[in-house]
Amino acid sequence: MPIQTTLCGRPLQGVLETIERFHGWKAPGVVIGAFMVDLAQECMGPAVEADAIVETRHCLPDAIQLFTPCTFGNGWMKVLNWDKFALTLYDKKALEGFRVWLDLAKTRKFPNLYNWYMRLAPKQSLPLDVLLESILEAGRSMLSFAPVTVTRYFGKEKKLEIGVCNGCGEAYPCSQGTLCLACQGEGYYSFRGERAPESL
Ligand SMILES: [Zn+2]
Repeated sequence: MPIQTTLCGRPLQGVLETIERFHGWKAPGVVIGAFMVDLAQECMGPAVEADAIVETRHCLPDAIQLFTPCTFGNGWMKVLNWDKFALTLYDKKALEGFRVWLDLAKTRKFPNLYNWYMRLAPKQSLPLDVLLESILEAGRSMLSFAPVTVTRYFGKEKKLEIGVCNGCGEAYPCSQGTLCLACQGEGYYSFRGERAPESL
């Protein structure tokens, strides 16, 4: 199969450069993600503005954010912490869409790709350019897809009732209790210095 020269409506080279600029390097996972988004978009057709669900926090969310209008911040992309290399684009009204995944059985034809995916290859033994070549060669043939109806994780997350924390004076959702989570001891930080926080 000839190497696909456009992805997500852009020339392949531009896609790779965009990935490097945004993600910091041409991460294999994001490159594969671009192929996945490209396939899912083709399945959905151009008329639908699709929402996205991603099944891993690694790499794939960046492919969605780069090549669709969905971002984590705008709420059109949900990110599940399942560590599965799969994503779904779907029509937010009909809840119908397509799930695309990196198909383990299909990756066996591309040993570099298989070994990377199954974490069998030490990084030194599989240089990035070699792996990327395998990915570009594999293209869509490493993927599977199926039509799905989305049954969970769709829709806007409701904004919760807001209050003022008696501990820190910051606004927080009342559903957390009478104090915000940080003041309940769930914080991820401690203030440094004598007098904190700094008052202006
Ligand atoms: Zn507080």
